[in-house]
Amino acid sequence: MTHIESRDYALQPLTGGCQCGAVRYRIAAAPVKPHICHCRMCQKASGAAFMAFAEAELGAGFSWTRGQPTWFRSSEAVERGFCAACGTSLHFRYVGSPRLDVALASLDEPEAIRPAQEFGGESRLGWLDLLGHLPRSTTEGTTPAAALRTYASRQHPDHD
Ligand SMILES: [Zn+2]
Ligand SMILES: [Zn+2]
Repeated sequence: MTHIESRDYALQPLTGGCQCGAVRYRIAAAPVKPHICHCRMCQKASGAAFMAFAEAELGAGFSWTRGQPTWFRSSEAVERGFCAACGTSLHFRYVGSPRLDVALASLDEPEAIRPAQEFGGESRLGWLDLLGHLPRSTTEGTTPAAALRTYASRQHPDHD
């Protein structure tokens, strides 16, 4: 698995889930084919510039530990899983396949798996070239501490 860079695979399985926590999952075996997809369907499914995925095997390698995603069949061949309560995009799956793709940013440790390939280049947004060249700040740097303390997050924490 030379194309996967990871931190803690040997130590513990990866976990993740949606923003509200209604859907949680566990990846017990190292996922494969980590990639970015720029295709127009991934853009619409996420509302973001692109999605990043890696493929896991349903069953021993991957299971949901809380709730279940809802599936939208975005084409004859493909369905996409999301949380019906909060809307987070979580999965891509060929209909009937024993494998599914897991959205990397939904991992509790979102940098655990690094994409190794880009697909859907025909729809890649030109302004992605600006990344690394725009003024950059942090949430703490642009929001007064007093205001941050009043924002009660409803996001599930990055652990079970
Ligand atoms: Zn949710
Ligand atoms: Zn795509």
